[in-house]
Amino acid sequence: MTPRRSIIPIFVPHLGCPHFCVFCNQNRISGSEKPATADDVRRTIEESLSRLGEGAEPVVAFYGGSFTAIPESEQEALLSAAYEYVKNGRVRDLRLSTRPDAIDGAVISRLKKYGVRTVELGVQSMDEDVLRASGRGHTAMDAERAAKAIKCAGFELILQMMTGLPGDTLEKDVSTAKKFIELKPDGVRIYPTVIVKDTELFELWKNGSYKEHTVEDAVELGAELLDMFEAAGIPVIRFGLNPTEDLSNGDAAGGAYHPALRELAEARRYLKLERSLLSREDEGKEIVFAVQKGRLSQAVGQGRANKNALISEYGLKSALFTERDMSEKLIRIK
Ligand code: SF4
Repeated sequence: MTPRRSIIPIFVPHLGCPHFCVFCNQNRISGSEKPATADDVRRTIEESLSRLGEGAEPVVAFYGGSFTAIPESEQEALLSAAYEYVKNGRVRDLRLSTRPDAIDGAVISRLKKYGVRTVELGVQSMDEDVLRASGRGHTAMDAERAAKAIKCAGFELILQMMTGLPGDTLEKDVSTAKKFIELKPDGVRIYPTVIVKDTELFELWKNGSYKEHTVEDAVELGAELLDMFEAAGIPVIRFGLNPTEDLSNGDAAGGAYHPALRELAEARRYLKLERSLLSREDEGKEIVFAVQKGRLSQAVGQGRANKNALISEYGLKSALFTERDMSEKLIRIK
């Protein structure tokens, strides 16, 4: 049986973050959250290990966005507490996420020393104007330099990008994806921008200076980006913000928030593929597609959106889908 990688998440809030990313809710991040201590790390790991079944491969993940920007002594304390479990073989390895301008030679040596295997870089965009308008406080060059240093040191590299940030355009997002591909990451996370209450972006949106990146915008662009990364052999390990109760209950005031955003984008990829197999000459015909096993709902689309769109766009009599054990994603059989 293939071992299951089980993530043990430890949230490390970046207290007093000196940056002003417009999409970030600083209050929520720097408010009442207490920083995790070495004891918290041990307790969390012990609790998680006691729940994990046979065959699991536990990985401790420090989340919070800017791990290597917190004071050095705190980093050392947290990493060494987790590393005890790597050394005794109860945890496979460690991963963490951070900012491009918080990576240098000393940081790399520290992460190596404590058995970190994966570093996630929150790059968000490779366009200088977008980075500036979003208040990121680092440049595209910082991101490139950090990504290369991480790869060169032998870590697994995950790059995170956002779409629809202030000053963004479709072309700029596609260009960021192209630059990511050149950096050869081991995986990518894509977060279409969500307008969260109590953020600067929320104010910019309310006063009309920011045009929201809608679910439809994110799905259409996402289908293209997913195609690009797949063609380059780079897995997209996340598309869209993790749904939470707070976001679903109103904290997500606008933008590309949808609990099933990835499914919508995957369905859009199918719609494009289906369109490419049809022509005006199919008007009035009954069309049948064979779909790879497990992908039927994506091919048909949520609420039969793809099926209905094809029937109306091409004037079809009907569009039918059948699942098959095959390597192709979709083929037309009638
Ligand atoms: S997203 Fe930006 S503002 Fe928020 S914690 Fe990270 S660096 Fe700071």
